[in-house]
Amino acid sequence: DLILAFESSCDETSVSVIEDGNKILSNIVATQINSHKRFGGVVPEVASRHHIEQITLCLEDALNQAGVGYEDLSAVAVTYGPGLVGALLVGISAAKVVAFTHNLPLIPVNHMAGHIYAARFVKPLVFPALALLVSGGHTELVYLAAPNSYEIIGETRDDAAGEAYDKIGRVLGINYPAGKEIDRLAHLGKDVFSFPRAMINENNFDFSFSGLKSAFINTVHHADQVGEKLDHKDLAASFQQSVVDVLAEKTVNALKKYPVKQLILAGGVAANSGLRERIERELKKFDNVSLLMAPLKLCGDNAAMIGAAGHVAWKAGVRADMSLNADPSLEFSWIK
Ligand code: ATP
Ligand code: MG
Ligand code: FE
Repeated sequence: DLILAFESSCDETSVSVIEDGNKILSNIVATQINSHKRFGGVVPEVASRHHIEQITLCLEDALNQAGVGYEDLSAVAVTYGPGLVGALLVGISAAKVVAFTHNLPLIPVNHMAGHIYAARFVKPLVFPALALLVSGGHTELVYLAAPNSYEIIGETRDDAAGEAYDKIGRVLGINYPAGKEIDRLAHLGKDVFSFPRAMINENNFDFSFSGLKSAFINTVHHADQVGEKLDHKDLAASFQQSVVDVLAEKTVNALKKYPVKQLILAGGVAANSGLRERIERELKKFDNVSLLMAPLKLCGDNAAMIGAAGHVAWKAGVRADMSLNADPSLEFSWIK
């Protein structure tokens, strides 16, 4: 089975060819980060225009690198949400053209399911599973009873973890997206500020990161006003420790309530080394739960993960027709 997959939900244009849902023949990713840096975040109109410029080039590269032609394909998968409407529409249009012209099934894929299935390239998912899904726009604990079944058991009530990283990065003068650089600094500093760990003792699986963000920004601004110079390494270490503590604690609590066979760590923030180390350590206490972490290079947005999730959806009979539209605020719905 060969699936051609498209991803254009945010600031990466990506096209990939996936064999049997688990082998990457090609995964072309054109990032627009440099165009958004000076604005400190993604500008939707700029993103759409970049996707339009890049999508056919990525498509050609993906087919060439995989060494396949349209006649070899079995299906076309595409992200249809959540994300920026204008950005999503570029990938959807391209996918429709290929599916229609070559008479191939069109598979609609939820971007967040894609993030989870990035882990599929390490080894197969085992059900029931729990996913800690941490990205630029989402922070959720998702229960997967079976393939194609997604139930959110907890989520952030305000900022996503990645969003908090990017916002405090701005205060430290770090370019968007700041997660990777803060992660690096964190390892050089110490948790001397002990910022709040919101909701850590609450009996639910929800998160909140806006209080942490405010505490961080207030600390930096206050120091500025009194002319004090704070160590960015310690600030980064303190911030990261607070984020990791909350994510790990809530995940452990969820594993106690939901006896699953596997924990999946996925999403852009799953690239965080502090989080990966901590989750690995915590999982040693759970004998019957295996840990599956998305590969570092597939944590961020890419079409390979959409191909992997698309393959599962395709086998389950999920199809779209030429009326497929972007759904910017798409949520998980599950098939029993
Ligand atoms: P969503 O998937 O929710 O729609 P998105 O696609 O914009 O949002 P991703 O591409 O999954 O988000 O992840 C990007 C985010 O990951 C950014 O906020 C970035 O700062 C963060 N990030 C990347 N690497 C790291 C890291 N090592 N530590 C922490 N955060 C990181
Ligand atoms: Mg991105
Ligand atoms: Fe994403």
